[in-house]
This record gives sequence, structure tokens and C-alpha cells, in this order.
Amino acid sequence: MNILSLVVPCYNEEKTVLSLYNEILKILSKISIADFEMIFVDDGSTDNTLNTIKEISKYDEHIKYISFSRNFGKESAIFAGLEKSVGNFVAILDADFQDPPELLIKMYNIITTQDYDCVAARRISRSGESFLRSFLSKYFYSIINKTSKIEILEGTRDYRMMSRLMVNSILELKESVRFSKGIFSWVGYKTKWIEYKNVTRYNDKSKWSFRSLFVYSLDAITSFSSVPLSLVSILGFILCIISFLLILFVVAKNIFFKDPVAGYPSMICIILFIGSIQLFSIGIIGQYLSKIFVEIKRRPIYLIKESSYRGETKKRCEK
Ligand code: UDP
Ligand code: MG
Repeated sequence: MNILSLVVPCYNEEKTVLSLYNEILKILSKISIADFEMIFVDDGSTDNTLNTIKEISKYDEHIKYISFSRNFGKESAIFAGLEKSVGNFVAILDADFQDPPELLIKMYNIITTQDYDCVAARRISRSGESFLRSFLSKYFYSIINKTSKIEILEGTRDYRMMSRLMVNSILELKESVRFSKGIFSWVGYKTKWIEYKNVTRYNDKSKWSFRSLFVYSLDAITSFSSVPLSLVSILGFILCIISFLLILFVVAKNIFFKDPVAGYPSMICIILFIGSIQLFSIGIIGQYLSKIFVEIKRRPIYLIKESSYRGETKKRCEK
């Protein structure tokens, strides 16, 4: 008997949660599951999201909620939802209808009848998105795939349905700086990709600014790849050889031509060049160091202000 858990991270989604709930009910009536639960994770919303969820949970016991003490980010919300989920299949979907809920039917049919532990959605068009965003996103995927052992297909979403086996493996990764797409790929298991065309957001704009996307990309790359550190060492080595040759040249020039002042401009260029490379390298090392600093503190990934769980620990389905 299959139980399906749906994890929905919500940050200021008061306008969508009720319609998402209604839509999900319609969809679930089309698949044969014994039971389901919908876990709304309110990620420190400042609008009426939590109250709306609480209202729904009053008349439907399938609705669970967790509300964070502040905004911890979507990655933390996903982790919290997965931790609370009890189903033998768990789906993650956005609250803004950008992850078409009707795909759940297809995902469920595939995961229950074929030999897959994960059925994931992938956007094949990015219509409605700015050219710059699409361009940068494309390069981000290509950098992360080239510099790390994980592989992330372009257009990959967090939207997916997973088996309990895979969810339990994801929960074993306790790192605080979480990059879910990397984690999904890192844990392995067989994944079936289903493609769909981009859907524009139900309300207003994405909550990701260019700045937050930049930080997210840096986190992703430094979480799964140490290639930038190796690049720095290689660069340092090449510069050492160049500097050594230059020193030989300057000494020889001085001995044979007695011309110590003429090289002043080139010296300034070299000092500036090497100085900037050093700063850049220290910056990269700093990125990794800050990551170690955050991880070593072992702070919780999220803090719960209130929830529908009230300390009860439900038993998870084992498989
Ligand atoms: N979200 C969240 N915490 C945040 C930002 C977003 O839980 O700090 C949720 C948001 O409510 C939505 C999902 O994550 O359900 C995706 O957010 P958004 O649509 O802004 O991102 P995009 O679709 O551009 O990836
Ligand atoms: Mg969205």
C-alpha cells in the first residue's frame, strides 16, 4: 500500500497555497494511492502564508506544516520536509505552479511500475526568462559539470518524486550549505527524466535575485568541486616559472647593459599582475575556508517556530 508525501517549500506564497492544495487534491484522485500527506514548509514568510496553511490543515488532516523561525532558504525547507515525510514515495514541488502538478501522475506511474528510484522534471525551454539569466544558467551547468564528478543536466529542477530508499540517503548528508541538485546527483540511484516546457510564475517574479543566484552558484561549485583550488596551484606554478625567467633576464640585462632604471614600467605591470593573481587565489581559498567554517560550527539547518507535529514522531515507511 503506497503512501505519497508531497513536500512544498513556501516563502510568501499566500496567493498560491490554497489553489495548489485544490489542484493537488484533483490530481491525487486520479492515482491509486492508499494515503498521502502534504507537508508545507513555511520558510519564514512575512505574509499570510502560514495562516492560510493552518486554515487548510484544520479541515484536512493530510495537511502538515512546519514554520521556520526565519527565512532559511529553499534548500533548508526541502531538507526539513524530507525529514518529516513518512511516505514510501516523496515528491518535492514548488508552490508557484512552475512545477506543473499534473506531472505527478506521470511520475507516480513511472516510479511504481518501472525500475527507477527517482523521476525528475527537466525544463526544456526557458521562455519567459531574460536572455542574461538563461545564458548565465547555461554556463553555470557547464562549469559545474566540467569541474566536479557530479552531472547536472541543464534545466534540471528540484521537482521530482523519489523512493524512500533515495530520500533516506539524501537525509544522511547533513551538510549545512546544501545544494540539492548536486546532492540528488551525488547519491546516485536510477533517475528517469521527464521534460516539459517552462511555465511562467503564477505570481510576480522569482524570489532569486542575481546576487542570490551568484551566491547559490558559488556554493554549488565549491560544494562539489575542488578544481578551482587545483587551478590556483597550477597558476601559481606557471607564474613562478615566468617570474624566475624574468629575474634571470633582469639580472643579465643589468650585468651586460648596466640599465637599472629603464625597466620601471614593466616592473609595475608585473607587480600589479602578480598581486592581483595572488588576491584572486586567496579569494578562492577563502571560499573553501568559509565553507569549512560554516560546517564546523554544526549549526542546525533550520529552526522550527511552530508546526503541526507537536513533538510526535511518526514512523516512516521503511521502503
Ligand atoms: N522558496 C523558499 N525559500 C526561499 C525562496 C523560495 O522556500 O527563500 C520557495 C518558493 O516559495 C517556491 C520555491 O521555493 O515554492 C521556488 O522559488 P522561486 O519560484 O522564487 O524560484 P525559481 O522558480 O525561480 O527557482
Ligand atoms: Mg518558481
